[in-house]
Amino acid sequence: MPTNLKLRPRMRGLLSPAVTQAEWIGIIAWIGMLLIQPALKLDIYMLGLTVGLLAVCRLHAVTANFLLWRMLGVTYIVLLSVGFAYIVRLNEELRLYGLPLAVTLAVGSAILFISVQDYLASALLVWLILWPPMQADIYAGTEVYLLMFCASSVSIGFILSYSYLKNLRSVLLVESEFRALAETDYLTSILNRRAFMQSFEKLLGGGQGGYFIMLDIDSFKEKNDLYGHDVGDKILRAMAVCLKNAKGSHSFGRIGGEEFGVLLQGDDPELACDFALGLLQAIRCSVAAPHNYTCSAGMARFSPGDELSAVLKMADKNLYGAKRNGKDCVHLDGALLQPVVA
Ligand code: GH3
Ligand code: MG
Ligand code: MG
Repeated sequence: MPTNLKLRPRMRGLLSPAVTQAEWIGIIAWIGMLLIQPALKLDIYMLGLTVGLLAVCRLHAVTANFLLWRMLGVTYIVLLSVGFAYIVRLNEELRLYGLPLAVTLAVGSAILFISVQDYLASALLVWLILWPPMQADIYAGTEVYLLMFCASSVSIGFILSYSYLKNLRSVLLVESEFRALAETDYLTSILNRRAFMQSFEKLLGGGQGGYFIMLDIDSFKEKNDLYGHDVGDKILRAMAVCLKNAKGSHSFGRIGGEEFGVLLQGDDPELACDFALGLLQAIRCSVAAPHNYTCSAGMARFSPGDELSAVLKMADKNLYGAKRNGKDCVHLDGALLQPVVA
């Protein structure tokens, strides 16, 4: 997914509270204006606009659809401008306030939109809607000044919106890069211990059971001593590729020097055993001789709400059993796992 699209939900999350607050200020100002209207002047049109503003504000705060969220932002500004334009049209003496109102809406809404295009569309609509009621004697012959106010307010809003969004995007980009670095193991590019354990905690708290497989490369020190650390590193990377290629895991990571962890969701024992035995087989032939290597595994079944430390301890115990049993095998519940012969 392009980075821009990935950042959108986070940008929306950051902008949303300010958007909701600003919309409420607009609604309060609108209702305040209605309250000071003589009761006789309140008509169905004003009531309709009030309901419309409230509905748009509410839907804007809760909708999950991104495109709708963007459209509702523009709709809100349009409704508010239509409402104010209507009041100004009804009350000759208020025409004077059309100009500050248009400038305030055009500049004030600049940092409430997630794209500059949305801002420009909304600011231009504000001016289009509020311009006609301002065409009174007070501005007669000085329309060129009005045009200057229009151009300046939209330009200032554009610069605000553009630079604000650009800075927000770059801060979020740096933050997501740091987040990825903090969660990734440098050598193998898979999850590091911290990120893997976080994903484990989440799974345990999420109401679903599964299996945890703790894997440890056999006699790895020997490989390092015999062929050098570069070959050791190559083996670690090959091991990570095997984990990536093994279909069906929930998550996997490097949890120690030459130790890896895999999480399987669901409590089908047959699937879990096939996965573990298949993985060990893939590991056996992942690097050509003489650098080929093997791995031992300890499995532990877990249920929702289990303690993470207890599951780790159980898997570790089984891993120890597998090592003692001659390595290159899987242990579950203290016993050797055998391939099912059809
Ligand atoms: P066992 O079969 O009992 O697991 O024996 P082992 O030799 O694999 O285990 P041991 O704990 O004795 O040695 C682990 C070795 O892993 C020691 C350490 O130098 C090596 N190691 C840890 N991290 C790295 C790494 O990032 N790169 C390389 N090349 N070696 C590493
Ligand atoms: Mg070890
Ligand atoms: Mg080892």
